[in-house]
Amino acid sequence: MVKNKIRWITIKNILLMVSSILILIIPNIVGGGNLNFTYYLLYIISKISILIFFGIIILRITKSYYYSYLIIGIPYLISSIVEIPNLILLSKYISTDVMKALFYTNMIEIEEFIGKFYLYSFLPFTLIGIYIYILKKYKFISYNLYSGKKIIFTSLILLSISIGISTYKYTNSKYFTYPGAKNLTYSVMKTYYIEDPPINLYYRIYNFLKINRNINKYRSEKENFKFEVSNSKDSIMPNIVIFVIGERIRYSNWSINGYDRQTSPQLEKIKKLVTFQKHYSNGNETNNSIPLIITEATAQNFNDVYRQKTIVSLFKEAGYETSWISNQSNIFLYLNNQNEPNKLYILDKNQIRSTDLDIIPIFDTILNKNTNKKKFIVINMAGGHGKVPARFNKFIPNTSGKAYPFIAQNAHLFINDYDNIILFQDYVLGELIKNTEKRNLSSVFIFTPDHACHLFDGGSLFGYGSDNPTELETHIPLFIWGSDKYIFNNEVKYRNLIKNKNLLTTNDQLFYTISDLANIKYKTFIQELSFADSAYYEPKSRYVYTTKQVFEFKK
Ligand SMILES: [Zn+2]
Repeated sequence: MVKNKIRWITIKNILLMVSSILILIIPNIVGGGNLNFTYYLLYIISKISILIFFGIIILRITKSYYYSYLIIGIPYLISSIVEIPNLILLSKYISTDVMKALFYTNMIEIEEFIGKFYLYSFLPFTLIGIYIYILKKYKFISYNLYSGKKIIFTSLILLSISIGISTYKYTNSKYFTYPGAKNLTYSVMKTYYIEDPPINLYYRIYNFLKINRNINKYRSEKENFKFEVSNSKDSIMPNIVIFVIGERIRYSNWSINGYDRQTSPQLEKIKKLVTFQKHYSNGNETNNSIPLIITEATAQNFNDVYRQKTIVSLFKEAGYETSWISNQSNIFLYLNNQNEPNKLYILDKNQIRSTDLDIIPIFDTILNKNTNKKKFIVINMAGGHGKVPARFNKFIPNTSGKAYPFIAQNAHLFINDYDNIILFQDYVLGELIKNTEKRNLSSVFIFTPDHACHLFDGGSLFGYGSDNPTELETHIPLFIWGSDKYIFNNEVKYRNLIKNKNLLTTNDQLFYTISDLANIKYKTFIQELSFADSAYYEPKSRYVYTTKQVFEFKK
């Protein structure tokens, strides 16, 4: 009888131990799923071993199962709550860029995020519930672990198993030549422990705080920054320069770029619009991409975004009156450049949802304003994050604003949603150009978005901002239009745009191109980087910046 009872208790305790481990490593169980079976099994064994290793050490110190599980459980649990929704969305562990986006996101985006994720929100609560249930069980188990030597021996064996498996996996994986890897130990640590749950989340928070420090560090350098514009008095600058920054816009979903659905009827009607074929963003996430678009910083010298002023200040130095219409004001929290434009219009303040339609009347007010100054207008659209007015709801069936899980079976709904967004964006851009054209001045218009996104193309990926940027996340449209007066004054530049539209171009060169289109000369201007110039030097590679590393893609 007594013997049986002891055995029963043991089995019960083993079950308890197994479930208490599994509940803590759910992100690893889910996230390791893209590995083949053997690697997956080894990965999970490695994660279990390292968890038990730390568990045993804490148990030695606390001499209580209850407190040990409490101490080790909480950091694992917090990591799970953040990692699991991200895994469902991006099939990746959380990145610093996602952290940054979450932190700087405005209330509208949070609402959007929660709205879409309420389907998954029961997961963290279930997880916490099960954890508390298990934790309570440990209250009734008293500490009677076998001798000290055996414990240290067991834990060291487990640690060796974990490190052994990770090293084996690393040297056999395609990431073996991981750029930036200092040596094998460092790389194994980074790949399988630091950038892996549960430590991943805390490492990303640390990284994020480090970036924030950069803004403060370069603050005075930025304040004293000057472009040193050297234009002569008689240089012919356009009356109006409009630079529109889109949001989450793919190159391939525009009929003007060859898409088989008619998503851009308005822009197709506009004569003299040049659309670039191989234009790429240097970031796959808003907060990395926009700073690179509006400053001279490049993917390889990202810190320059903190040191330098933006293109708004360049136009200000050249004598333009500058305005910025923002439907995505969270970018200012990141870049801290809200004081640069003479006039700032924020459409998404006070959490009141605004559509990109609201840009048009403000834009017209700026155009109508009587001033003897030339005008530079930056517009940052809500784009692929914004709401689509009902009259653009042409491609059906779509999600109709309801939350559907991000799975391939729902792909057609999300694609229809997306094509309606493009149809709407096309309308807004068309209106902006038409209203500009009516003024009969020398005007030039440039549109490019911050990045593109996945739409379940060739797999399960949806969204953007992954740690390993893809072609689809970064291939974006670039439209340039000039009024008749502008083209008359700048015929050679316009011809060069047409000549260069099939070459590789990136947002790294856009700064030089816009200043060139406006005939602004300044100290660090480089003619060969402007694709409005006949000497445009097509780059051999393009670069994509992520907080983790810079990726080079050969042409
Ligand atoms: Zn974005």
